[in-house]
Amino acid sequence: MTDETCKSGCSQDSCSSGSCGHGEVEENLDEFLENQMLADRLDKIDHKILVMSGKGGVGKSTVAVNLAVTLSLSGYSVGLLDVDIHGPSIPRLLKLDGKKVEIRAGQILPLAASENLKVMSIGFLLQNRDDALIWRGPMKMGIIKQFLKDVEWGKLDYLVIDSPPGTGDEPLSICQLIPNLTGAVIVTSPQELSLSDVRKSITFCRQLKLPMLGVVENMSGFACPHCGKVTDIFSTGGGEKMASQMSVPFLGRVPIDPRVCLAGDAGEPYVYHYAKTEAAQALEKIAEPILKATQTPKEPSPVSRAERTKTMRIAVPVTGGRLAMHFGHCDQFAIFDVDPTTEKILNQDLVAAPAHEPGLLPRWLGEKGVQQIICGGMGARAQELFSQRQIAVITGASGEEPEAVIRAYLDGSLATGENVCDH
Ligand code: ADP
Repeated sequence: MTDETCKSGCSQDSCSSGSCGHGEVEENLDEFLENQMLADRLDKIDHKILVMSGKGGVGKSTVAVNLAVTLSLSGYSVGLLDVDIHGPSIPRLLKLDGKKVEIRAGQILPLAASENLKVMSIGFLLQNRDDALIWRGPMKMGIIKQFLKDVEWGKLDYLVIDSPPGTGDEPLSICQLIPNLTGAVIVTSPQELSLSDVRKSITFCRQLKLPMLGVVENMSGFACPHCGKVTDIFSTGGGEKMASQMSVPFLGRVPIDPRVCLAGDAGEPYVYHYAKTEAAQALEKIAEPILKATQTPKEPSPVSRAERTKTMRIAVPVTGGRLAMHFGHCDQFAIFDVDPTTEKILNQDLVAAPAHEPGLLPRWLGEKGVQQIICGGMGARAQELFSQRQIAVITGASGEEPEAVIRAYLDGSLATGENVCDH
């Protein structure tokens, strides 16, 4: 954004003055790039489901874990994100407590709980659980934003988000940061108190125009672990009645089964380890209408282009027919398809560079399937954006003709010097 556009009416909420100085321009650029990174990440996820509850202790995390496991067992690639800042319980429920996540090139890599299930919890990053207690609203928003922006999920069919209970800052942040949430699953227990809390959750969703996938009544009756019979020890059916009164779909009742608690403490997903029980079947059923509503075709994960063809696509920025020393200011890109095994150039193309716009080139080249860039100089920020897209960058090449650069790269004789544009 330029000073001029700002003076003529800045659309950014953060610009209070209405006419930015340079600092604000930089701030807006940072915010723009951050928002773009966040949008890029979320673009790769087909469906984002927020699991929420009016209050704590009603089984929200239990439902989130078992929903994610059920979807992953159905062959979908699933991410489970725990942003319950004050009580992250997902690591324990999946026996990932105390595990460290890897941070590579500024990206947080989620842990794999199984082949189709990746997990990320704010608990993996907290040095000390008490740290979170002193975080205030805006700080929590910043942490949740950073968390959503920096976790590298890759392509996912579903992301199940375990949100903190209530309708406060954290669920609000999530709804604001993920504008295209697929919908919310609201968990309640049959007691009147949590039912009145869940009404607030429904109102919250309506105010934010967040679609509701439905209400789950957890801890509804007691399932005897010996004979399996379910006895209504407290009043039940309140969740269903309330869902119908408020015109929200009802996703089912899950009885109390002491093995839910035991499985949770042992870090064993209940729907998997106790698949035949009444409670597991009720938990599995929650996924059915969600699958129906989202209608994701069950296709195998796409094989990456490189795996499919064993070729590689390389881009070289070009100005005046030679490698451009300043990446962001080139006129064209020479794009080569090469076979690194036979060291052959299979195809080459020269395309006009798009108009200069911050953060655009990583997306533009990513969409063209580029996996490697060879250039003279590139700023640190741009390198970071490419690395987030898994596009490798070689800097310090000299201004030769692009084909000569590629031949040198293929036969291992490419000489590189200093990054001439490291700002
Ligand atoms: P929340 O995320 O709402 O705070 P949790 O999922 O952590 O709630 O559940 C709170 C406790 O209740 C946990 O110990 C969990 O194992 C137990 N629990 C949840 N659902 C059931 C159930 N259907 N039967 C028995 N115990 C349950």
